[in-house]
Amino acid sequence: MGLASINEIIQRIISPQIRSLSAYAVPSSAGYIKLDAMENPYQWSNELRDAWLERMREANINRYPDPAAVGLKKQLAKVMSVPNGLSMVLGNGSDELIQMLIMAVAGQGAVMSPEPGFVMYKMLAKLLGVEYIGVPLQEDDFQLDMPVMLEAIKQHQPALIFIAYPNNPTGNLYHANDIEQIIQQASGLVVIDEAYAAFTDSSYMSRITHYNNVLVMRTVSKMGLAGLRLGLLVGAPEWIQEIDKIRLPYNINVLTQISAEFALEHHQVLDQQTAQIREDRTRLFEQLASFSEIQAFPSDANFILLRMPKDKAPQIHQALRDEHKILIKVLHGSHPLLDDCLRVTVGTPDENKAFITALGEVLN
Ligand SMILES: *Cc1c(COP(=O)(O)O)cnc(C)c1O
Repeated sequence: MGLASINEIIQRIISPQIRSLSAYAVPSSAGYIKLDAMENPYQWSNELRDAWLERMREANINRYPDPAAVGLKKQLAKVMSVPNGLSMVLGNGSDELIQMLIMAVAGQGAVMSPEPGFVMYKMLAKLLGVEYIGVPLQEDDFQLDMPVMLEAIKQHQPALIFIAYPNNPTGNLYHANDIEQIIQQASGLVVIDEAYAAFTDSSYMSRITHYNNVLVMRTVSKMGLAGLRLGLLVGAPEWIQEIDKIRLPYNINVLTQISAEFALEHHQVLDQQTAQIREDRTRLFEQLASFSEIQAFPSDANFILLRMPKDKAPQIHQALRDEHKILIKVLHGSHPLLDDCLRVTVGTPDENKAFITALGEVLN
């Protein structure tokens, strides 16, 4: 057996599902205006950085981190207004929480999500060998197609439904009545993914206790701490207890625990930045809407979905990248409802201006 080639051994022991996937690709971005990944573009002041680094002196990197991250959870509960009596499990990004949730139901039923939606639901389900069902949204406004959604729930009885609220990559909030119906009809768990909570006033956090089958997921990534990799899942203690069994014991490292706790003590700084981004989103949307040849979709997140003239999206994306050093995301080709679509993250006022100017040139 020692004489088999690497490829032969791979064929034999790596499953076809995994071999058929491609790794999550992230292009290098040095020297570009980065408007492709929904990051908060703002840095901290030197004073705040110094105070943070001073706090980091406490880090005992020779020891394992607090496995329960008690201090950090308290801060998160306070800043995110988690209702009393609910529990929380933390993930290395909410991506890890999505993975834990799917692992928890593996073998018991399918994972379902409206599409186009966040790609990790499908990707992680496939990686874990769990059946995944994507249910198409309405074509014109990306709202839930309720007859189709309810029929899919009835037919497949999914163990787990992910609802991104607001949705990525479309940016919209679904109608509350529709979500209510899904929660009522679902025989399994409904996870409301509020990755963009900082950019909208709508949330299910205060309503979790109204239901038996709802968890709310948040992340600190989009609010300005993407580098830390920290997500949280909130719900009834009975649910969280089960999910917590799947968590690797020390999944939130010491540096992240200390840094996130510090950042949340100074959450006003992040609040101010995200409020600025919300304001700039309005301006950016108006400017985009003034281009007659493209369509901009209203957004409750920190990005805007755009539809380009037919068959032009890849070429516009490339011209922005190569001629103007601006990175945005191509969605064309990722789902039939996203034909000709691109997605731009709201940046600083200067970055947004550079994008608008460049787009104007590229469209001409
Ligand atoms: C970005 C994003 C996430 C992942 O966030 P991380 O905490 O950085 O892993 C989850 N859900 C949605 C809808 C997102 O857009």
